[in-house]
Amino acid sequence: MEPLVAAIDQGTSSTRFLVFNAKTAEVLSHHQVEINQSFPKEGWVEEDPREIMQSVYECMERTCEKLCQLNINISNIKAVGVTNQRETTLVWDKETGEPLYNAIVWLDLRTQSTVERLINKAPGRNKNHLKHKTGLPISTYFSAVKLRWLLDNVEEVQQAVLSERAMFGTVDSWIIWCLTGGKYGGVHCTDVSNASRTMLFNIHTMDWDPELCRYFDIPMEILPKVRSSSEIYGWMKSGSLAGVPISGCLGDQSAALVGQMCFEEGQAKNTYGTGCFLLRNTGTKAVMSDHGLLTTVAYKMGKDKPACYALEGSVAIAGAVVRWLKDNMGIVKSSSEIETLAAAAGSSYGCYFVPAFSGLYAPYWEPSARGIICGLTQFTNRNHLAFAALEAVCFQTREILDAMNQDSGVPLTQLQVDGGMTSNRLLMQLQADILCVSVVRPTMAETTALGAAMAAGAAEGVEVWNLSPGHLPHIMSEKYTPQINSDESEFRFARWKKAVQRAMNWET
Ligand code: ADP
Repeated sequence: MEPLVAAIDQGTSSTRFLVFNAKTAEVLSHHQVEINQSFPKEGWVEEDPREIMQSVYECMERTCEKLCQLNINISNIKAVGVTNQRETTLVWDKETGEPLYNAIVWLDLRTQSTVERLINKAPGRNKNHLKHKTGLPISTYFSAVKLRWLLDNVEEVQQAVLSERAMFGTVDSWIIWCLTGGKYGGVHCTDVSNASRTMLFNIHTMDWDPELCRYFDIPMEILPKVRSSSEIYGWMKSGSLAGVPISGCLGDQSAALVGQMCFEEGQAKNTYGTGCFLLRNTGTKAVMSDHGLLTTVAYKMGKDKPACYALEGSVAIAGAVVRWLKDNMGIVKSSSEIETLAAAAGSSYGCYFVPAFSGLYAPYWEPSARGIICGLTQFTNRNHLAFAALEAVCFQTREILDAMNQDSGVPLTQLQVDGGMTSNRLLMQLQADILCVSVVRPTMAETTALGAAMAAGAAEGVEVWNLSPGHLPHIMSEKYTPQINSDESEFRFARWKKAVQRAMNWET
């Protein structure tokens, strides 16, 4: 039997566990569980860390049961990788093993006033004041401000820090700590890709930065140890996979970059999940953007391997707008139904929808922007709204791609895509039309999990997976080519930009 490698993919909307054949990258079995989000106040987004762990355990156990039913021996699973929603912030008590507050999800806006205060105190009110070290603007998005909020507002967190019981982590740290034993000696670590999203990590020295920690007034002793993305962090302590090494860790967008085999400088992918994230590999150089993109650590595939960087365009709301139309508006009963509605409309008929629910991320970084739907007429119906929502995802990607092309000077000639939304074929065609470049989607949709599994399987001491792309069979893909002329797409894009200006200035 071929060796198998598994991955835990803990996303914003769901958790998955997948088991791959290490020779063919074929998914042999998987299980998925949806995650509840709570919105306790306007702009707040939380998840329950216990529910996250329960979903991880449930996905692992159910997948193992399915493998047994297929007569596949689970002892062939040689390594497990972890990939996760990034920036989401947790603090827990290392003695009781209990979380001290809900996980504050990356989309959460509660820190808007803290961010304004921090920007006001920066020289020249420059939100890019810390960019030379972090690659990031000061924004509600990153973990440091969320952690600051927890330290300021949650008494249990303050007490735990004082009594040296507090541990901070992003979701990867929480999962690895729990799986490696939790309060009975769990390993408190993170990888460089996740650390680079906290704003406490220096992306040049590759370590926590005392000056950044002072800036946010974060006690350094609560931070996890930073490790590479591919090494043995520890071993599973319980369950069907007890004794299996956990040897890969990557933030979800980095994992998708790896899973799409974008190892060469200049290669890029766009992932359409809750948000939408376009990453372009810049090799061992940390390239700073002049057009509102982030500089982030893409991966470091082993203790002694060099770190690779990426330029990133982050869009906060992509699939989340579909979920909003489903959960808040009741316009669709399932996410996939939006395709039927949009297809029935065939066009938005002049309706533009800017879903700036959490402000606007790249390239604007404007936390005070708010959602807007404009161009409505008596004729507009839910089908047009569905179309406008999908078109919004495409326009936002176009803005990122334009910024990426300006920063690099070398235009992308096609876009590799993945993520939950890419099963929507109308969206894929619309994206090719609006970008005026081809969109290429692998038929194997689970590239994020594959990337984490690849990192785990390639780790020193595991070595069942060779990371060179030639070692995997050709993964089939579907290609969408532009079907409208560029004048038409420019016209629509110009209208979109006008709508964005209204979303930015809606209060004035
Ligand atoms: P994440 O990794 O952020 O949890 P996924 O990659 O699992 O996200 O994608 C889930 C998101 O994609 C949800 O927001 C959902 O609304 C959206 N989605 C899923 N299927 C479709 C579809 N067919 N059309 C449009 N949106 C979809």
